[in-house]
Amino acid sequence: MRQLLPGHGASRGNALGRARVRLPHALEVLEEHIAANAVDAELVKLHAAIDTVRGEMRDLRERLHGALAHEVGEFLDLHTLLLDDPELLQGLDDLIRTGRYSADYALRLQRDRLAAVFAGMDDAYFRSRVDDIDQVIGRIHAALHRRDVSAKGTSGEILVTDNVAPAEIAQLQAQGVVAIVTSAGSVLSHSAILARSLHLPLVVGAVQALQRINDGDVLMVDGGNGELIVEPDAADLRSYRARVRELARERKQLYRLRREPARTLDGIDIKLYSNAESREDVAEAHALGSAGIGLYRTEFLFLQRNEVPDEEEQFRAYRDVVLGMTGRTVTIRTLDLGADKADRTGLVMSDEPNPALGVRGVRLSLSREGLFESQLRAIVRASGYGPVRVLVPMVSCREEVVAVRKLLKRVIRDLNSAGHEIADNIPLGAMIEVPAAAIALPSFIGAVDFLSVGTNDLVQYLLAADRNNEALADLYSPLHPAVMRLLHTIIRTAHLRGKPVAVCGEMAGDAMFTPLLLSLGLTEFSLHPATLLEVRKAVRECDLADLRKRSAALLRARDREAIERWMHP
Ligand code: PEP
Ligand code: MG
Repeated sequence: MRQLLPGHGASRGNALGRARVRLPHALEVLEEHIAANAVDAELVKLHAAIDTVRGEMRDLRERLHGALAHEVGEFLDLHTLLLDDPELLQGLDDLIRTGRYSADYALRLQRDRLAAVFAGMDDAYFRSRVDDIDQVIGRIHAALHRRDVSAKGTSGEILVTDNVAPAEIAQLQAQGVVAIVTSAGSVLSHSAILARSLHLPLVVGAVQALQRINDGDVLMVDGGNGELIVEPDAADLRSYRARVRELARERKQLYRLRREPARTLDGIDIKLYSNAESREDVAEAHALGSAGIGLYRTEFLFLQRNEVPDEEEQFRAYRDVVLGMTGRTVTIRTLDLGADKADRTGLVMSDEPNPALGVRGVRLSLSREGLFESQLRAIVRASGYGPVRVLVPMVSCREEVVAVRKLLKRVIRDLNSAGHEIADNIPLGAMIEVPAAAIALPSFIGAVDFLSVGTNDLVQYLLAADRNNEALADLYSPLHPAVMRLLHTIIRTAHLRGKPVAVCGEMAGDAMFTPLLLSLGLTEFSLHPATLLEVRKAVRECDLADLRKRSAALLRARDREAIERWMHP
């Protein structure tokens, strides 16, 4: 029966496909017993599901090529090992045979048992394996409930789940998943950022999804407005096809702007840099005429793998970004692991009581000097191939910037004396995403060459509202008078001191906010290439002098409603 379910659009695009439901990690399965004469059939059913999953993973492994084969392959190998683990399999059989539990409930008991064993281990690496157990058990569970078991693979399917980790997104897309729907999550999570980067439609916060959508249902997903239609009717299909055509038309029109300048109506050029985390992003940024890379998130090199990439591997990755941008500036951000960007390499402490306020970003880098030094060496070596800037995340005080500057100087000296060809000037910049850094900016602005405002984190720390907590979605918004005032102060301070300043949070990539940011004085944006042309179009429709005149009114706005009225006069 047709149902319309609401959610929040986190990555634009429309998709039509069958639902693949993956139940939440803590499987919500009620205790269920079976009759003695049903035991054999239950075991057959369970093993058929396990075989299906094994086959799916084998197929997927064979379909992977290039970088994905390496990144995702390790992940799959581990899951295949877990799937064949005698402890897991024997435990399941015993629970069904002797406990007379249903296969579903046996899976849940076994999941909880193994998770408790792993969670109790001293080694952070093993503790982080709980997620893998969840994923393997979740896959078996989904296979047990698939209506059409012969439909192998996930190609053309829409994943419906509670939440999705950043590390899984590329894997899911490689598997052929055409969209993702989650009951939790937020539009500003790193998973959402990655989905946008891969042009994979994503709807988050669809709270009823897991109760109302069954495995195999046909789903229509609009990643723009967050709307989901289960079992769409003929009228829905008609409007879906019209929407797809309209999007293609809009894209074609926007594409004409790829060679046009980001110039306002009154003739002021605005710099539009790109955020990037993959080779594809870099190619897209270049093709769309981006001014350079304003934020290269290096942590994505560290995710989805078990060992830390060494200097050589990092150097090759950074050098390729620099070469890909053919002489335009590339801003490489040093490692920003931590919080929801948890790795598998054990660098991030997995038992931090409050990871968002924990050892993340530059704090982690400064606590691991060897690791940090090898990253800086890799970045500096890449500067021999084109202009490079170093950007430091999560700066909260002057001492951190001074410590990074000192290390960077040493690295440059060492590389120079070892005969490496490197740039004469490698500017050092700070991310402004911790309120303390924004407020105390005059105290350390002299120690940096440029600034980049990370509004995703700045808003969460300023408003004390977790960027990933769907329950706070209304509160977590850049449209707060405190955010307006702080942004204005940061931009003014930077300009007074002659330091370039960009905004690189997701806010910069939303054309709805372009006039507002221009009004606050911003002249440099860094955004994902997926929305670069839309923001360029918005810039070209703005009159800067007029917007600047309206900035006093914006700064006087007392609440979100007043800011929205300012945006839509
Ligand atoms: C930000 O916080 O706005 C930012 C750009 O960094 P990230 O989203 O990677 O934390
Ligand atoms: Mg950040």
